[in-house]
Amino acid sequence: MAQAKRLKSGRWRIYREPDKIVRDPSSGAIANFRTLTEASRWWSQVNPREPSLQEAHKCARCGAYFGANTPWTMYAGRPYHLAHVPK
Ligand SMILES: [Zn+2]
Repeated sequence: MAQAKRLKSGRWRIYREPDKIVRDPSSGAIANFRTLTEASRWWSQVNPREPSLQEAHKCARCGAYFGANTPWTMYAGRPYHLAHVPK
């Protein structure tokens, strides 16, 4: 399964779980996109048999994406770092 992450620059990149970055198979360059919609469309064309691309889970309080080994939890339907769950 693959997930999209938004960089600080505003560009979107695609990662295969756990943390392997996806490259454009024709050019070998790291694939990056202006919008999640654009990334999702490209993903579906290149990998038509795989599930559609979603944004990676990120903490609802601090906005950081979870790393492959970061423990996190769902609270009231939203993902949080364990230390950032509302009290
Ligand atoms: Zn957090």
